[in-house]
Amino acid sequence: MIYNHILVRFGELALRGKNRSSFEKQLVQNIRSVMGTFEDVKVKRTFGRIIVHLNGQEHEPVIEKLKTVFGIHSFSLALKVENDVNAIQEGALHVFHEHQETTKTFKISARRAYKSFPVSSQELNHKVGGFVLSQTEDLTVDVHNPDLNINVEVREQATFITAGSFPGAGGLPVGTSGKVLMMLSGGIDSPVAGYLTMKRGAKLEAVHFHSPPYTNERAKQKVLDLARTLTKFGGDITIHLVPFTEVQKHIRAEVPSNFQMTIMRRVMLRISEQIANNEQILAIATGESLGQVASQTLHSIHTINEVTNLPVLRPLITMDKLEVMDIAKKIGTYDISILPYEDCCTIFLPDDPKTKPRRDQAHKFEQYVHIDHYVADAVNRTEKIVISEKMRDQKTMDLLF
Ligand code: ATP
Ligand code: MG
Repeated sequence: MIYNHILVRFGELALRGKNRSSFEKQLVQNIRSVMGTFEDVKVKRTFGRIIVHLNGQEHEPVIEKLKTVFGIHSFSLALKVENDVNAIQEGALHVFHEHQETTKTFKISARRAYKSFPVSSQELNHKVGGFVLSQTEDLTVDVHNPDLNINVEVREQATFITAGSFPGAGGLPVGTSGKVLMMLSGGIDSPVAGYLTMKRGAKLEAVHFHSPPYTNERAKQKVLDLARTLTKFGGDITIHLVPFTEVQKHIRAEVPSNFQMTIMRRVMLRISEQIANNEQILAIATGESLGQVASQTLHSIHTINEVTNLPVLRPLITMDKLEVMDIAKKIGTYDISILPYEDCCTIFLPDDPKTKPRRDQAHKFEQYVHIDHYVADAVNRTEKIVISEKMRDQKTMDLLF
């Protein structure tokens, strides 16, 4: 393999001035963070590009890591050569040889970002293309639809030669949009919602409600494992584990069965809001999808949402379950989500929830619930765990058996 660098491209059009600089800095930091295990790899920022120096590191695992970094539009393996026509010609020939089995036609696309380089882009196309032709057989130039497009990018320090590119994860670098508190259950939906929230640049914290001893250690561990899987896309995740047993028992004793779900959700949202406020987090996210279950009808969302003034992000609101499952499989959360441990919300709830709960009804039933006391108590007893990227490879499930 002749490539010694990777050229990273990011969404340039939307970014101007100060935003652009902080975007780039965050992206470099995030790339460095996923490159942590490759000791020799270096990541540098140059105008409009980020360059990964492989320094002898195999490129395949590096490419796999880069695909997980939000904010990258695309990236290419690159051969770095001196700003010298002969060196560029030789380099282009090497790049051709890497791809020769699938190449009958090619073209050179030169771009002179460094204007002091004495040869124009057009001239370079001719000189480099002519040289490659002179050194090969059965190869022709096709400027419209070539099998291989060899890009030559002349920059101030050096020239980078690439052919083809990998699509990046898109989105914005995690950390450029502030923090969001993800309501993370052990189900299929909320981890996917967390992934999509990170995609738009938000750093995640998570809140999980559990009801020991009715929900067991494995159910809790499952959620930690889901959070750990998500760290792959956005670094460390602080998870707030809320003990929910007391509130649930209280709601069950005081509220008619068909309204328990609504009141329970309202309490969950109030607790989440307090945690968000304590952590200076400006928004909450959930894995809700319109009409999926009784708690996610428009009436339910309208009545539940009433208790908070924070924005509640619902990245899955328009998605079908199958679409969500596809993403879950792609990001590696699906197999964990389908493990059969009980969630707090399913254990306590009767199976006759109202699908059109009204706000005034919720107010009426909440008169019998000591909301402030239970919310404050649950927040006080919340346990905080930092799930770090480094823990990701450990088989934590094993520790429990
Ligand atoms: P999921 O697959 O994410 O569990 P779901 O389709 O099972 O979603 P619900 O159980 O109604 O739907 O939950 C709706 C949303 O409420 C979840 O996506 C999640 O954001 C939040 N939620 C549910 N249970 C919990 C919990 N135990 N802890 C934290 N958040 C929860
Ligand atoms: Mg659920």
